[in-house]
Amino acid sequence: MAENEKKGPLENITEKLRSLLVTGDPQNNQGALPPKARFSIWYFVITMVFVIYMQQYFFSGKVETIPYSQFKQYVDEGTIDSVIIGPDSIRGTLKGTPVREFTAVRVDDLDLVKALDERNISYSGQYENKFLSGLLSWILPLGIFFLLWRFAMKKMGPGMGVMSFSKSKAKIFAQTDTKVSFDDVAGIDEAKEELQEVVEFLKTPEKFQKLGGRIPKGVLLVGPPGTGKTLLAKAVAGEAQVPFFSISGSEFVEMFVGVGAARVRDLFSQAALQAPCIIFIDELDALGKARGMNVMGGHDEREQTLNQLLVEMDGFETNKGVIIMAATNRPEILDPALLRPGRLDRQVLVDRPDINGREAILKIHSQNVLLGPEVDLRGIAGRTPGFVGADLANIINEAALLAARNNKEMVEVEDFDEAIDRVVAGLQKKNRVMNPKEKEIVAFHESGHAIVAESVEHADPVHKISIIPRGIAALGYTQQQPTEDRYLLTRSELLDRLAVLLGGRVAEEVVFNEISTGAQNDLQRASDIARAMVTEYGMSDAMGLVSYERSRQPMFLAESFSTGKVYSEAKAAQIDDEVARFVHEAHQRVRKILSERRTVLDALAHLLSQQESVQGDELREMLSLATPPLAA
Ligand code: ADP
Ligand code: MG
Ligand code: ZN
Repeated sequence: MAENEKKGPLENITEKLRSLLVTGDPQNNQGALPPKARFSIWYFVITMVFVIYMQQYFFSGKVETIPYSQFKQYVDEGTIDSVIIGPDSIRGTLKGTPVREFTAVRVDDLDLVKALDERNISYSGQYENKFLSGLLSWILPLGIFFLLWRFAMKKMGPGMGVMSFSKSKAKIFAQTDTKVSFDDVAGIDEAKEELQEVVEFLKTPEKFQKLGGRIPKGVLLVGPPGTGKTLLAKAVAGEAQVPFFSISGSEFVEMFVGVGAARVRDLFSQAALQAPCIIFIDELDALGKARGMNVMGGHDEREQTLNQLLVEMDGFETNKGVIIMAATNRPEILDPALLRPGRLDRQVLVDRPDINGREAILKIHSQNVLLGPEVDLRGIAGRTPGFVGADLANIINEAALLAARNNKEMVEVEDFDEAIDRVVAGLQKKNRVMNPKEKEIVAFHESGHAIVAESVEHADPVHKISIIPRGIAALGYTQQQPTEDRYLLTRSELLDRLAVLLGGRVAEEVVFNEISTGAQNDLQRASDIARAMVTEYGMSDAMGLVSYERSRQPMFLAESFSTGKVYSEAKAAQIDDEVARFVHEAHQRVRKILSERRTVLDALAHLLSQQESVQGDELREMLSLATPPLAA
């Protein structure tokens, strides 16, 4: 007994731990988590292993763990001196010198006490303080580790930690002259006009302050990538001759906890000193995603930074002459709070340029390029609908490189043709060889598109057909040249587009009685058109003038994220039927067109296989010479 008293709490703990390990009693695990569960899981695991190891190593002493059966055997043999019976374990000493201690996991055994009595073994019960021992055996070591961890983090602090990031490494310096003016930006005249007011304000803030007019605090530039948003922001600074603080939203995302917010604070305090000036946050979407939208648990850091940004925006007096500009190509995912009045309350759309805009952009970028006399920038602009400023700059650059490679004095038409081809469908893959069968299929496929495009009334004329593989996705392509930019499409125009898209697939069908996987993208686009006609444009007689689709872009009303269905299941089935009907009818129509023009189809495919590319004019000539003559 006296001996047992001496053993003290540490042994208790050891034993506790042992029994815990053997039985895996889940109750005893409570309190095992560190108070602040901000560790990485690995830190936690390593700590656990270490703690267990330490317990074993330091506290186990000479105590031997034996199975219960052996314990019973000892009892029977009478080799036991005394035991302490705990709720979960039995501890005891064996007779003889040196004294050997053992411990065993307790099992339900009603005869144990009787057996002990019979052999005159002294025994006593023991109350084990679960809470205290749990606390000591788990929390204490973990607490020590936690403190060590904190200490390590602090040590890192002055050298490479939080404080220094916001001060020194953050390159928040203002560009005092961006060397960009409005003249360098073309094709987005409406956006330019809207920003003119901002320039005026930055130039002469006093004038506006006197009149008390409300100046926009923040301007959000919205538009597809490459349309010149960044360029435009720089141009505003250049025009107004004010410092330009620029920072990209994605820069914040990789930072350590707390740094992003600190940096935002820095940015605004420095800007305040240099007013009038512009703060430009590029790629705002990386930072300004709506809070609470994260499925994988929040990104604390980003949210903190965003919150700080909102706070700073609110704390800013417009009349100090600091204008916040930001750019994004995904306005719909922005946190609505960013767009509230007093923050980025003015949105400026920077859209893809139209044909005049494209021509103007081409002019700007070819200023320092020697163009051949035949080069027609207007024509190039006409062939590149949907291209953005960055694409056009790329074309000029490519063309100039090609000309230089061929040791030409000037950049000529062929260089531009090739440059467009490259930019249109990825770089020409000269080393990729199609097998002859593939090539034949692709030739008929593209011929099908082209002939249908020339045969239906409303399709844009074919500019060029090519079966030179480019990039990964496109095996060939048919390039149509719109005669004008379009903002509205009629029903018959959409039906004709549908037909052109199906042309490739149907040509394969007609010629080979077999179809390939090459039409997948066509079919997808065709289905999209057909579906839009039914659900959005009310062009299906059966479905009537009901729009079954909510507008897909909640543009600046980011609250309405749900694009839930607004119709019944029955309607859904009906819509599917109508879409299928549109596609089916187009299919029949295209079959007829191509069957009637079978000779031209064969001839064109043959020519394509030989030359790999055919101009639209050649095709038109073939069609006009066709025998028997074709009805229009
Ligand atoms: P965004 O920020 O919208 O993605 P950028 O401003 O970065 O696009 O444009 C990239 C480059 O493309 C510009 O540096 C410029 O050379 C060219 N560019 C884009 N849009 C235009 C434009 N409207 N006028 C002239 N150049 C443009
Ligand atoms: Mg940009
Ligand atoms: Zn196709």
